[in-house]
Amino acid sequence: MGEEPLYLEPRLEEPLRSLLESPGLLHTLTNALGSPLNVLLPDRIAANVERFRSVYRAHHLSGQVWFAHKASGSRALLRRLAATDAGVDVASLTELQHALGAGFTPDRIVATGPKNPPFLWLAARTSVTVAVDSRAELEHLVSLVRGHALSRARILLRLSGFESTGVRVLSRRSRFGSPVANVGPLLDEVERYGDAVELVGVAYHLDTTGLDEKAVALEGCLRVLEECRGRGLRPAAVDVGGGFGVSYVDEREQWERYTTALTDAVLGTRPPLTWGGHGYGLRNEGGTLRGTLGLYPAHRPVAGAGYLDELLSRPAASFGGRPLAALLLEHLYDLHAEPGRALVDQCGVTVAKVLEVRADDAGAQLLVRLAAKADDVALEDHGVLVDPVVVPRDPAGGRAGDGPVAVHLAGSLCLETDLITRRTVFLPRRPEPGDLLAFANTAGYCMDFRATRAQQQPAARKVAAWQEGGSWQWCLDDEYWPTVPVGGTQ
Ligand SMILES: *Cc1c(COP(=O)(O)O)cnc(C)c1O
Repeated sequence: MGEEPLYLEPRLEEPLRSLLESPGLLHTLTNALGSPLNVLLPDRIAANVERFRSVYRAHHLSGQVWFAHKASGSRALLRRLAATDAGVDVASLTELQHALGAGFTPDRIVATGPKNPPFLWLAARTSVTVAVDSRAELEHLVSLVRGHALSRARILLRLSGFESTGVRVLSRRSRFGSPVANVGPLLDEVERYGDAVELVGVAYHLDTTGLDEKAVALEGCLRVLEECRGRGLRPAAVDVGGGFGVSYVDEREQWERYTTALTDAVLGTRPPLTWGGHGYGLRNEGGTLRGTLGLYPAHRPVAGAGYLDELLSRPAASFGGRPLAALLLEHLYDLHAEPGRALVDQCGVTVAKVLEVRADDAGAQLLVRLAAKADDVALEDHGVLVDPVVVPRDPAGGRAGDGPVAVHLAGSLCLETDLITRRTVFLPRRPEPGDLLAFANTAGYCMDFRATRAQQQPAARKVAAWQEGGSWQWCLDDEYWPTVPVGGTQ
C-alpha cells in the first residue's frame, strides 16, 4: 500500500474489549446464528447508569435517569436496566408495553414524543409520567382522564424555541414541544385542568451536540419554573432530554488527521478517500471548499455523563452567572435526563463475516464483501465513521509481510449503493474470507433503526453476552433476564 493508513480506531472499553479478544466465541456465535449478528452487553448499561448517577451525586442533585428506549430495541438491555434504579423514556405504544413487561413500574416511565391515541390512553391508564408535546395533546389527555375517571396524570411540559438573554445563541427550530414564548396560555390551561393533570416539571430535548444551546434551554426552563411558582403551581423538575453523545473514535489525532485528509481529497490535493469521490457534505467548487461536513463528531473529548457534568457547571446569565447545578439544588428541583445513545455506549457490537476479498477495478484497493447489508451496520447512516475490528478465523494465521490495506466494504445486496461505508477503510492487515469484521459500539441506533429484510435476507439476530466467574455466557436477546444476582455467581 503506497499511502499512510488513516485509521479511525474505535474506543473499546470493558467488557466490549474482552469480547473482541474472544475470537472463538464470536466465530461460534456467528457460525450458529448467522451473519450479521448483534451482540449486546447488558451489564454495561448498568455501569453507564452508575456514571450518570455519580454526576448527580457530585452536584448533590436528585432526579431520574430515563433511558431513551428508541436508541435500542434490545430486550436484554431493557431488562437489565430494570434491575437498576434508572427509568425509561418510551416514545410509542409498543415501547411502553415493552417497558412495562420488562419490569418497569409506571413511576419509572416517562412517555415522550407526539403520541397517538392508544399510546396516550395506555400512558394515562397506567399513570406513567407524560411529557406533553403540545396543547392539543394536553387537551386529549385531559379528556381521557376525565372520561374514564382516571387518577390525575403527572405531566411535564415539553418546551422548545428557547432564546438566550445575552449573546444570541441560535436555537434551531424543532417540530416538537410547545414554544416557550407561548408558555403563558399553556400554563393557564394547566391551571384550568387541575382536576385532571398535575404539573410536575418542564422538559426539553434538543438534537444537537451544542452545549451552549442546551444551557440556554435549561436556563429557560428555570425561568418557566419561576413563573409557575408565581402562579401557585408547584412543578419541581427539569428534564434536560438526551443528546449527551458518545465518543466512537479513541484518538483525537486520528480523527483530525482523517477529516483534514478528507478535505484535501475533496479539493483534489490528495487521492480520493471515498467510493466515487463522495464528500460527506463537502464539495469542490472551482478549487474552493463548499458545504458542511455532515458527520457525527466521532471523537468527542467530552461525552456521556461528562457532558452532563459540563452542562450543569455552565453559568446562567439571567441568574447572576451562577452555575445551573447550584440553581437546581437551591430550589431542590429534580434533574431528569433522557440519555439514549450515551446510555448504551459500549453496550453492543455488530459482527459480519467476510465473504469475498478481491482487488477492485483499478487494482489499487480491495473490495471486501460482507455477509451483512449496509442497513445492518447503520453507523454510516448516522454519520459515524469508525473502523471495524478484524476478528481472524485463524488467530495464528496472519502471513509474513502482511501489512495495512485500503479496502472498500460492500454489503450483500445486489445494489450498487449497498456499501457498509462509502469511506476507504484502512485495516492493519488484509482480511480473509471467513474472518469477521466487528463494528464496535452499534447498540445506540445502529442496530435497530434501519434493519430491513431487503432481498429476503434475514435481519441480524441479537444475543446477550456477559461474564460470569471469568468466562463468557450468552443467550438469545429474547431469553435474557437478569435473574442471576448482580455481579454474577462467583
Ligand atoms: C431521541 C430522544 C432522546 C435521546 O437522544 P440521544 O441523542 O440518543 O441521547 C431523549 N429524549 C427524547 C424526547 C428523544 O426524542
